[in-house]
Amino acid sequence: MRRLVIVSNRVADPGRGQASGGLAVCIFDALRVHGGMWFGWNGEIVADEAKIGTAFVKHDSCTLVTMPLTERDYREYFLGFSNEVLWPVHHYRLDLARFTLEAAEGYRRVNARFAEKLSPIVNRSDLIWVHDYHLIPLGTGLRARGVGNEIGFFFHIPFPPPEVLSATPEHEWLMSSLLEYDLVGFQTRSDHANFCRFICDFMGGEITAPDTLCVAGKYLRASVFPVGIDVESFVAMARSPEAEKRIHRTRWQAEPGLSVIGVDRLDYSKGLPEKFRAFRRLLEMYPDKSKPASLIQIASPTRDDLEAYIAIRQELETLSGAINGQFGDFDWTPARYIHRAVERDTLAALYRASRIGLVTPLRDGMNLVAKEYVAAQDDADPGVLILSRFAGAAEDLQEALIVNPYDIDEVAHAMRRAIEMTKEERIVRHQALMGRVRQHDACNWMLSFLRALSSCREQLAGNVCERSVRRRDADQRRGSLVAFPGHSSASNSMGKLITGTKFGGGSTSLT
Ligand code: ADP
Repeated sequence: MRRLVIVSNRVADPGRGQASGGLAVCIFDALRVHGGMWFGWNGEIVADEAKIGTAFVKHDSCTLVTMPLTERDYREYFLGFSNEVLWPVHHYRLDLARFTLEAAEGYRRVNARFAEKLSPIVNRSDLIWVHDYHLIPLGTGLRARGVGNEIGFFFHIPFPPPEVLSATPEHEWLMSSLLEYDLVGFQTRSDHANFCRFICDFMGGEITAPDTLCVAGKYLRASVFPVGIDVESFVAMARSPEAEKRIHRTRWQAEPGLSVIGVDRLDYSKGLPEKFRAFRRLLEMYPDKSKPASLIQIASPTRDDLEAYIAIRQELETLSGAINGQFGDFDWTPARYIHRAVERDTLAALYRASRIGLVTPLRDGMNLVAKEYVAAQDDADPGVLILSRFAGAAEDLQEALIVNPYDIDEVAHAMRRAIEMTKEERIVRHQALMGRVRQHDACNWMLSFLRALSSCREQLAGNVCERSVRRRDADQRRGSLVAFPGHSSASNSMGKLITGTKFGGGSTSLT
């Protein structure tokens, strides 16, 4: 079997049981099955660049290769470009995007350093799999250092329509960087369709076969691989005697009414204030003192150096306080808001003990919490999943109660419907959901991506991209640069050569 090299911004510590964040959870699951190397940032910050070295740690079947970032890298590459530009734009929040030249330079610098440190330790037969938006241009850096291996890239976050994406300064450079990968993977069909539209309408490319795109004579595969969870380990955790005990220990079990659970990183994309407002609306729907349900919201801290995240924390604290003030009683705290990460087995127990799983992001790549909630249920008396139509998971988990998270009344009515749903209907829905969660589990996700990556070149051999070849030949005859339609033909910041053709595109103003 070929060695797998996984590259992501952050390498999580396998010793920590509570790896919050879907990416870390998926990668652990993948490497546990496959073995290989995981390369990335160790989470530490050092004073200056000269102190950056790589450390190798063997852990079961995988080797973790990590390095620190400098304070400046953290500010510019991680907080700045990755999380104040790419994250909001890909979650359709152009209003929250903040762009600076320094952040863009930091993003380039750290990606180049990743390529510099990784390329010498790659073997010729390795399959390289790069994860997520922090590292879009890594493929370009690796190719420039002579890495000829198959390299795949996976977007864990949504891929917005071209009209939204093109609000990112530097989007032409970023998109052309993606062409250096053999395979680009997406969570959902709509992300994939948005990408294909970008390639065809904004880059003059074409779809030459299912999942095969061609731009200026250069081929690339792009496909959908929905991320999943390690279902069996979650089922086992939720059913364990420890989980039972934990459920009984929580005073929350003694509360009147049914329990509703929400588990999210404290991120503006998760729709937490809207969720609290919908819960308040539910309480308003019931006559005085009938105490229909209690909400427990576990929201782990994330990126709390950024203003948008500080604001959302304050908003939630105010909202939960207001709900408890208005509706609470001596024996009842209607909304519990817990601002920390909790152990995964505790999460599994809490999911199982809750009649409703409330997963209502405003936009989400996939959302693993939805899948974990389903996996943790008791088959004989399952709870009901309420799921945002804007979570990638909704493409698959259609037997959930699908809601528009912006519509507070609709979400409140869905909760009411879940409270009143018969056991028979809950069982039928749960069986169907569990089938889908099992079908698209972590192992399947990893294997299907790796299978597609290792067979990419074989499948592309012999493909002829008539339109692009004609255009490239014509451009070469004219000696001109290929420009993105509708943009100036000044060369972009990388000036990258793609099969003899240089990609142009307005080098957009960075301020
Ligand atoms: P994202 O990747 O945006 O964080 P996902 O729902 O896909 O969203 O993944 C979240 C993962 O992190 C899930 O596996 C979930 O169990 C875990 N998680 C989220 N919040 C917490 C928390 N407060 N404590 C522990 N784990 C958490």
